[in-house]
Amino acid sequence: MNRRSFLKSTVALTSVITLRELTPPARAAAGQKAVLNLCSQEGRIPGGSLKEKVANLQKYGCTGIEFGGNPSNRIAEIKATLKGTGIKVSALCWGSQKGDLVSLDMAKRKAGIEAIKSALNTAAELESNGVIFVPCFHKQSELKPAELDKVLEEILPAIGDHAKKVGSRVLLEPLNKKETFYINRLEQAVAICTKLNNDGICMMGDFYHMALEESDQTQAFITAGKWLHHVHLATRDHRILPAQEPHSYVAGFKGLKQIGYQDFCSLECGCKKGTDPAVEVPKAFDYLRQQWDEAKV
Ligand code: MG
Repeated sequence: MNRRSFLKSTVALTSVITLRELTPPARAAAGQKAVLNLCSQEGRIPGGSLKEKVANLQKYGCTGIEFGGNPSNRIAEIKATLKGTGIKVSALCWGSQKGDLVSLDMAKRKAGIEAIKSALNTAAELESNGVIFVPCFHKQSELKPAELDKVLEEILPAIGDHAKKVGSRVLLEPLNKKETFYINRLEQAVAICTKLNNDGICMMGDFYHMALEESDQTQAFITAGKWLHHVHLATRDHRILPAQEPHSYVAGFKGLKQIGYQDFCSLECGCKKGTDPAVEVPKAFDYLRQQWDEAKV
């Protein structure tokens, strides 16, 4: 059996491709020096209004803010608030729409596809890096991974073309096995991006999930290479702010440096019970800058 017929068999695409086969040319080779663009999800940042949150992000030396869902009714507010601040919209954390895009109920699937297209329109309007997409969490699909691969191969090309047309991209997010049985490691998302080869279909990495699923964080990011356009930050054990419990980001940052990563690293985490986010969030950013400096390549 040659490789082509092997990949056409019913074995899940996301489980058969090895790291070595998929390692793309590193972006650093093209001469781009990686940058640490620190960012946070909106809810994590102290402040009673978007304006206050953005002012705090500026104070902390950040360059981005991530919004949840599809904030189509806030486009004017967000644009007006960010104007002239140096803070950009990093990504929209959109999710799975209850697994509707991979549903066998075609009406649900169609509505799910329209919903992500609408989120892509908003993401483009906000000049963000893309829309974070999870095909399904646990209990949102009865399909097996190989069948889900097939559904994604059916639906994603047109969604990716829409994303390119409006000026955005889908960001597939691998999650740990406690949250989903489908796409747990970065190489599995890479397999899909590589197979589709559509610039509108890319991916991200989340340090929390990666700490649970990846045996080599540096290599995981190197494997993601040119497809990687967003990163989430949290600790492994309690998914709280970096520096609030022991968790090293150095190995992962080494990978980001080796691919010349240019996009955002965004907080997606809680704050340790009884501690003050106004004190702890800036400390987390300082810690991440230290860890970035320690990641020598
Ligand atoms: Mg995440």
